[in-house]
Amino acid sequence: MPSATAPTLRIAVIGTGPGGLSSAIALSELPNVHLRVFESAGELKNLGAGISVNHNGWKVLELLGIRELVTGASTNPTVQRNAYTGEIVDPGQPHNPDDPYEARRVRRLVLQEALASRIPPGLVEFNKKLVSLEDLGKDGVRVSFEDSTEATVDLVVGADGVRSVVRKHLAPDYPLEYAHQVGWRTLVPVERLQHIPDLPLTTTSWWYGKAKSLWLSPVDELSNLRLIELTCRVYGEPFVPGKTVSWGVHVTNEKVSDRFTDCDSRLIEAFKQVEEGTWREFAAYQGGDIDSLVGWHKLALVGDSSHPSIGGFGSGSAFAMEDSWTLARAIEYALSTLTSPSIASTVAEALRIFDTVRKPFYHEMFQFRLGQKNALQQVYRKEYEDFDGDLRRRFSSDGLGARRSKGFLSFVYNSDIGKKWNDFIESDKARLSRQ
Ligand SMILES: Cc1cc2nc3c(=O)[nH]c(=O)nc-3n(C[C@H](O)[C@H](O)[C@H](O)COP(=O)(O)OP(=O)(O)OC[C@H]3O[C@@H](n4cnc5c(N)ncnc54)[C@H](O)[C@@H]3O)c2cc1C
Repeated sequence: MPSATAPTLRIAVIGTGPGGLSSAIALSELPNVHLRVFESAGELKNLGAGISVNHNGWKVLELLGIRELVTGASTNPTVQRNAYTGEIVDPGQPHNPDDPYEARRVRRLVLQEALASRIPPGLVEFNKKLVSLEDLGKDGVRVSFEDSTEATVDLVVGADGVRSVVRKHLAPDYPLEYAHQVGWRTLVPVERLQHIPDLPLTTTSWWYGKAKSLWLSPVDELSNLRLIELTCRVYGEPFVPGKTVSWGVHVTNEKVSDRFTDCDSRLIEAFKQVEEGTWREFAAYQGGDIDSLVGWHKLALVGDSSHPSIGGFGSGSAFAMEDSWTLARAIEYALSTLTSPSIASTVAEALRIFDTVRKPFYHEMFQFRLGQKNALQQVYRKEYEDFDGDLRRRFSSDGLGARRSKGFLSFVYNSDIGKKWNDFIESDKARLSRQ
């Protein structure tokens, strides 16, 4: 029941990726919120193939109440291989069936349907492409769409992805640049691959070449194995004016397989089994560490909109859901702690809290990336005197790859947003009691 004394907040969520859908779940559960969700596409998009859900992802799915709806294949062991010779350079960590938070590869559609199943029917307004925002002072924000319609709200949640229009208003000079990296992704029915001798289909394998890599993984529970994900990455791709903006566009089999003709024969045969028209291309864009996730005392960025980077360590969806859940908690907390909350004071306080809890994480992520820059340059280079030896060294006990597979990204994958939130509450209560 909405509280009679607390103000009703008008909130617009822009976008229905993992960030927008999880925002819709978390915010629609709050009393005193009038929620609208806008999406530029005509329907929910199913872009991409598989998605890794790590410890952090399971934790936030639990908080959103949809963990049981999301299933997939364990990514342990992830076997690291030489793409030319097939040599195993790292056998990966063993599968631990007793760990409920173990990393799994999940079909993106499964995650999307789980999220969509928990939002009120009819909530999403499709074919609503945000074009501009106008700060109306005490009256809120005017949200304008390409079809010339408008809405006025108290808070705009920018879940509109890498090329966020909300971010452009919040940080107009934020630099977004092409990262010279392209991903190609598809799903292949398992029966089309089963004839290939020794092609691993029930474990995840990552195959490395010169300035390219390929990821092969089941995305369904092994008891119900139906689809295998193929994801390729190529580095050092030139910018093609007017063309290098691809995000989920079709590419031909020839374009993809041509880049892997020098690879292990199992991979070459696997490429031949891909149904024409099913590859999708994703050109990677990146930006820097944004100063703040909030602005105007009325705008908040969730998900990729705030940290366009080359993937998010394969955890960008979890980040988006963590942001959304935290934003809802921040609004709830602001309403409960402000003595006489107005709309403006509630939104301003909720955004302050949201930024306080989430911004340090993204800052740490960008700092980490800076530290990895030189090591990553090595991975991306095309010329090698001894590629096989270099790859083995990369996965030797102190190599970048080995540390990556043995948990040195723990601040990302093992994070627990529920715990972080509780820690914030404890410290804030201590702050309030000192006042
Ligand atoms: C190749 C590749 C591999 C990846 N692998 C993983 C992985 O293994 N695990 C993982 O967790 N993440 C992975 N990611 C990252 C993950 O896909 C993103 O982090 C995640 O989708 C971010 O969600 P989001 O809701 O912030 O943005 P998006 O998913 O980009 O959604 C944005 C939404 O906003 C809509 N929109 C955009 N502009 C407007 C506008 N002007 N008006 C209205 N609506 C608008 C779009 O149509 C879209 O529906 C991968 C990404 C790529 C490209």
